Amino acid sequence: MAYNYFKGIPELPEYAREKQKRPKLIAVVDEDNCTGCQACVPFCPVDCIEPVSNEKYEFPIIPPVQVRHNECTGCQVCARVCTKMTWDAIRMLGTETFEDNYTMKID
Ligand code: SF4
Ligand code: SF4
Repeated sequence: MAYNYFKGIPELPEYAREKQKRPKLIAVVDEDNCTGCQACVPFCPVDCIEPVSNEKYEFPIIPPVQVRHNECTGCQVCARVCTKMTWDAIRMLGTETFEDNYTMKID
């Protein structure tokens, strides 16, 4: 039987929702590792993944993506999609660890 390469990849959300409570995890894109393929973008249930602004990098031409961290629910969908479909460029950090590393408060 053929291997199901899409096993574990969730359905695309029908519409964008909003974060309801403080998450346990936050998604962080390793921009140096991200190809900018945007495969993860439509899977995010709260639509909080976007390309970085064109001004940030002279190269590459295709900008990597970033997460609007305070909107992230920590669902891990993007990390699964990236790992399974493309490149493994998203790490899930514990919210306290994220806050310490990025000196940013998550609601
Ligand atoms: S799927 Fe992975 S490599 Fe592609 S844009 Fe998203 S984080 Fe970057
Ligand atoms: S973990 Fe990824 S898919 Fe889930 S809300 Fe955060 S950025 Fe979106």
